[in-house]
Amino acid sequence: MSSFSNNESRLTPFGHASTGLPDPGDASVMQAHLENQSLKAQIVTQTQLTHLLTHQLATPLTALGGSVDLLADPDLAVAHRQEFLVVVQQQVQRLQNLLQDLKSLRNLETGTLETNPVSFCLKGLVEEVVGTLPGSQVGYNLSADLPLVRGDRWQISQVLINLLSNAVKYSPDDGLIEVGAARQPSGWVEVWVRDHGLGIPASDQPHLFERFYRVQHRDRHTIQGTGLGLSLCKLLVENQGGQIGFESTHGEGSRFYFTLPASDR
Ligand code: ADP
Repeated sequence: MSSFSNNESRLTPFGHASTGLPDPGDASVMQAHLENQSLKAQIVTQTQLTHLLTHQLATPLTALGGSVDLLADPDLAVAHRQEFLVVVQQQVQRLQNLLQDLKSLRNLETGTLETNPVSFCLKGLVEEVVGTLPGSQVGYNLSADLPLVRGDRWQISQVLINLLSNAVKYSPDDGLIEVGAARQPSGWVEVWVRDHGLGIPASDQPHLFERFYRVQHRDRHTIQGTGLGLSLCKLLVENQGGQIGFESTHGEGSRFYFTLPASDR
């Protein structure tokens, strides 16, 4: 055997010389290696989240700082004062929404979000939520034989609010939005929100439910958001035992859907 092949098969204290992996035969070293890899992955995720959160805080704070400086000018015209106050209100609201979303995410991830599953009429909830979106054109497509569904009514309302607000936000002003629901052959109820707006580029689609993920395309660079809404929806739907997904064509529109258990299942 040549010295080259001898070296190749020799183990280092941290693993196999040729692969960099520990000897799979040594269970404790392998276990330590896997834990090490998992910790490294967690550190990378935390660093990315801190980076994204910093960005989410910086934008409204810059706008707030600028407006407050201008408002401090005693000679500022009344019309301008009003204009800058609106900016302040909007940015404070944006920070409050961010905080609320972060709190809900934390409570879901730590299992401390209070969940009260009840049987309720989906049509009533959908109409209630649509009523909170003034000025938008929402059409209903709720099947006539819709059974009662089971889940935490408030949490499901948050999912509907997020999906409907996104449909409105990423559509032209006169864009038609549809909210629908029907029982599936599996016995589960599928709820969907369809729009004919911007749609989602294919390359962004695999990442859409990741925390803080936002599509960086020029067709939406003026539309504000935190990139938390869909990750929150996913956790909320899964908290009811359901699943969430979407179909979308960039430039044509999207259909987001989720499933809920029917109470007579
Ligand atoms: P946000 O809207 O705050 O950025 P979300 O998590 O709700 O965060 O959505 C993530 C991204 O997915 C958005 O930045 C947006 O580009 C895209 N998106 C979500 N819903 C729609 C939709 N109905 N139509 C087009 N794009 C959407």
